[in-house]
Amino acid sequence: MLKIVPLKTKKNEKIKLCVIDIDDEDNDDDNTNNVTIPFGVDNAENEKEISHTKKELELEQILNDLKSKQTPQPNLSYRIRMGYVWEDFVSYQQKKFYPPIGNLLINFVGYKCIDTAGEKNTGPKREFFTLCLKSMEERLFLEGAPLPSTVLVNQEEFLFAGRLMAMSLVQGGQAPTVLCDMTYSFVCSKNVPLPKSYEVSLEFLNIPLMKKLKEARNDKEFQKILLEDDMVSMLTDIGYRNNPALEQVCNREEILRSLYYKKCIEPVVPALQQLCSGLDVLGVLDMIQDNPTAMAQCFVRNLRKELQLDDLLDIMKAEFSEIGSNKRKAEIDIYKSFTAFLEQCAFDETSPLNLENVLMFITGTEVIPPLGFHKEISVKFLHSCAPDCMCLPTVATCALDLNLPIHYKNEEVFSTIMTNSIQMCQGYGN
Ligand SMILES: [Zn+2]
Repeated sequence: MLKIVPLKTKKNEKIKLCVIDIDDEDNDDDNTNNVTIPFGVDNAENEKEISHTKKELELEQILNDLKSKQTPQPNLSYRIRMGYVWEDFVSYQQKKFYPPIGNLLINFVGYKCIDTAGEKNTGPKREFFTLCLKSMEERLFLEGAPLPSTVLVNQEEFLFAGRLMAMSLVQGGQAPTVLCDMTYSFVCSKNVPLPKSYEVSLEFLNIPLMKKLKEARNDKEFQKILLEDDMVSMLTDIGYRNNPALEQVCNREEILRSLYYKKCIEPVVPALQQLCSGLDVLGVLDMIQDNPTAMAQCFVRNLRKELQLDDLLDIMKAEFSEIGSNKRKAEIDIYKSFTAFLEQCAFDETSPLNLENVLMFITGTEVIPPLGFHKEISVKFLHSCAPDCMCLPTVATCALDLNLPIHYKNEEVFSTIMTNSIQMCQGYGN
């Protein structure tokens, strides 16, 4: 008997699934126990590694493919105002003399750090993708489903949303995990199948007539509801062809599903189609449609992963002075205070900040991009302060540097100062 089991892997590693043979007792020869041995261990012989499903590629490979297959894009310099990130993006997208897709170079108007054509200075760009995806999500989606707005469709905002998501994924921004299952399944197959069960939307069943239909106990009650004026017009809308006076309660699910599709899905189909056209750039849509399971991790909001302390510490590198030096001693104390601060952010519910806030402060993005950053975050220590100096920690989001002065007395002082720095920074973006 074959069984597919997920292999425990270290963080940041792709999830591996493997097929293992778990023969029944009557078949076992030397197997004294029935413990399954995961594949990946060299001495396990009979096992065969597969990816998520047989045909699909691993996410890491997909993303690397996407990146490597890019033909050089024109540089697109966007001048963006903090606080109007989505609006300014949309206005560039609407300009006919600008190509819609390119290598974004972001200049936040009024801020020093700007993107240059060189690949590595991507701090503002990361920050742009984070802020822009967030305000796009608030404006165009409700819990991952597009708003049924003719105005937004008319302004082609879902088209621009799709392009933004594709560019963020390919150009080192965060994964655009904003879609609900229904929206994502449309993107994968370019149509929405009728829902498997009408119970997909409780909200829908809270419409009084729907509720009555669902609760009808026999044919007679069912027919009576179908003959109500409002219901008759709704049945006309869905092209119902039978005689409601002879309808049977056993057909209830069919009718509810059609009504659900008409009321909840059909109004957003134009938005969904626009979103697909937007995603059909840089090879992203094809990749999604070829590898729907793996790519779901980048697009589906329920699969959004919370940032873990270990993930954050894994991508940091403290630049300590030589072993034995006095400088190093002070650096170790400060780094210890810094990790204590991170622990507080991660686990203390009363902490005003969480790890996402910290990562945003240092890198310009709240989640680690699917392909990671181009380098580790360097934690540097400043020794040159005057006595009694109370200067604040600083960051360079482009270079991924965090600069920590070494003059904070204890963990408590450090935590207060760090919290203030981050909160001040959050304020000035808005
Ligand atoms: Zn100082």
